[in-house]
Amino acid sequence: MRLRHKPWAVEFIDAHTDVVIPNPEAHKTKWSEVFGNDNPVHIEVGTGKGQFVIGMALQNPDINYIGIELFDSVLVCALEKTIEAEKPANLRLLKVNGAKLEEFFAKGDVSRVYLNFSDPWPKIRHAKRRLTHEGFLKLYENVLIDNGEIHFKTDNRGLFEYSLVSMNEYGMALKFVSLDLHVNMPEDNVMTEYEQKFSALGQPIYRLECQFKSNK
Ligand code: SAM
Repeated sequence: MRLRHKPWAVEFIDAHTDVVIPNPEAHKTKWSEVFGNDNPVHIEVGTGKGQFVIGMALQNPDINYIGIELFDSVLVCALEKTIEAEKPANLRLLKVNGAKLEEFFAKGDVSRVYLNFSDPWPKIRHAKRRLTHEGFLKLYENVLIDNGEIHFKTDNRGLFEYSLVSMNEYGMALKFVSLDLHVNMPEDNVMTEYEQKFSALGQPIYRLECQFKSNK
């Protein structure tokens, strides 16, 4: 998702360093200092306008959440919503590329990775850009706790099938798979912006939870 250029976005983001962490490298191995507690840290890579990560932070005050987004024009929407939600103490945002996670997090800093409606990159020559490509799985493994999990939702059947194969070939254990999440919607499901849009069109939502094995 790339929205119309917003010249004011950078200035607005820079004025809210209490929410959007300006130098995340400085907090590697020390995220507990940012949140003021030792609670687990869950990250969402490709957080978009932030509805999911804000909803999760409000629903689960004992978990710390970090929403990661590449573009200023999109992140600024997540920042505005975070301000509207009165800046939950357990939520921070990063304007960074998820491909650089290891610059900001050490092994064990992160307890769970969420990927929601990731860009599908349907052309084979762009497969390495998919957030469930083995290159990204390696990154997630390198920042997660042992036996850490990825929770993934999408409306895109092709990306879902690709991700199942990619995770299986990587040696991950599949813990949960749904081909139509909204048929038996879990009570605690927090919908993302894209999830709301596609489910309103009657499209099935695919979801999986998978886990890295520490002794592969
Ligand atoms: N997760 C949101 C949702 O479900 O409504 C947004 C989905 S949108 C299709 C994907 C988002 O991921 C876009 O905002 C895009 O900018 C972001 N994104 C894609 N690749 C990224 C990367 N490598 N690092 C950080 N964000 C990324």
